[in-house]
Amino acid sequence: MTPSSDHARGTSPTLDVAAYARSLDCVHCGLCLPTCPTWQVTTLETESPRGRVYLMRALAEGRVADANAIRPFLDHCLDCRACETACPSGVRYGELLESTRAAIERAAPRRGLAAWLVRTLLWHVVARQGRLRAAFAGLRAAELLGLRWLATRTRLLPAAMAALAPRVPPGRERRPLPTGLHQPPAGVARRGVRVALFTGCVMEPLFGRVHRATLQVLLANGFEVLVPAAQRCCGALLVHSGRPDRARELARANVAAFAEADIVVDNAAGCGCAMAEYGHLLGDAAGAAFARKRRDICTFLAQAGLSAEPAECRAKAAYDDPCHLCHGQGIRREPRELLARVPGLEIVPHARPEECCGSAGIYNLLQPDLAAAIGRRKADSLVAAGVDLVLTGNPGCMLQIDSHLRRIGHQRPVRHPIELLVPAR
Ligand code: SF4
Ligand code: SF4
Repeated sequence: MTPSSDHARGTSPTLDVAAYARSLDCVHCGLCLPTCPTWQVTTLETESPRGRVYLMRALAEGRVADANAIRPFLDHCLDCRACETACPSGVRYGELLESTRAAIERAAPRRGLAAWLVRTLLWHVVARQGRLRAAFAGLRAAELLGLRWLATRTRLLPAAMAALAPRVPPGRERRPLPTGLHQPPAGVARRGVRVALFTGCVMEPLFGRVHRATLQVLLANGFEVLVPAAQRCCGALLVHSGRPDRARELARANVAAFAEADIVVDNAAGCGCAMAEYGHLLGDAAGAAFARKRRDICTFLAQAGLSAEPAECRAKAAYDDPCHLCHGQGIRREPRELLARVPGLEIVPHARPEECCGSAGIYNLLQPDLAAAIGRRKADSLVAAGVDLVLTGNPGCMLQIDSHLRRIGHQRPVRHPIELLVPAR
């Protein structure tokens, strides 16, 4: 049986043919189940990768008539892709999920205030950096006026959401990187290599310090750095929410913005994973060429080699793999290699380095109960390792881990690995 031809007419929530064909690779072995965070929490087949593949195939084959019947099980999926790493048959679960979510969204768009708010937030705010900056400035002002405290006290803002909502940094920490070309400082041996830096959406207002550290490390290591003004959000959140059409608009803008660059570096695992898939998203040579020239910052630096010694950092730290770096891009060794170069830093293992933390874009806002259970497991694992510093390379993971460490009374600094590679002045 193949997906209905109704798919082409947009009247039935069926998969595209390639994604459907790949779902047939699943041999129902169940090896993916123990790696799946939602199965670990619920132990339900419908909350497992195998169960979800089965449901998506059933939908594609017309054995499930109402897409809304399976939607909750797909909504509960974090798209963390731990199941792809575990799968011996090479099922490309992420593609299958994203294709199905898009097909359902086309055929039966979500209704209601919450759905409208998410759509508005993702497309009209997150995807437009000027509005996102203004929104964070407004949130900061509201915090200073005590409105956050008031909203929590009056339960206008649920306690769980208040715990997740990050403190908005002061304006000087949210300022964007200057666009244009940056040259290494005088006295630094130049590599004769120019890289373009992708800055994304929420990293700037929440973790501007990570962008500044990235720029500083690249310059101190002798690279010229171009920050293109015309770049946009990567589109990952739109792909995950079933709107690849809108993500394509952003992807095309980024392909154009970085047209002159030979190497594009990014420092957010989720953005990097999405941009590595621009060839698939856009379905053209330009998207594929962009994907080939982009690099995760740690991979780029590990391959190029550090020429500037990082500053000393006396700490016992755990490195936690962001899902979209380890499962999505297969990058595990490079951040650890770089961190091994930091004088004084002791990296210790913890029990769940490759399990999702429960952040997954805006999953922790949309599925707070599951996200909290998953986040708690991660925080417990880090605390059990006895570390005084946590390192991870994605803004959502940084927020989620910080939030859950605080919740269990074990606040620790959570940093991006690039922050520890800044040389001593
Ligand atoms: S992507 Fe993650 S949450 Fe979703 S089925 Fe796979 S392992 Fe489970
Ligand atoms: S590991 Fe792969 S083949 Fe086995 S059940 Fe999971 S998705 Fe199917």
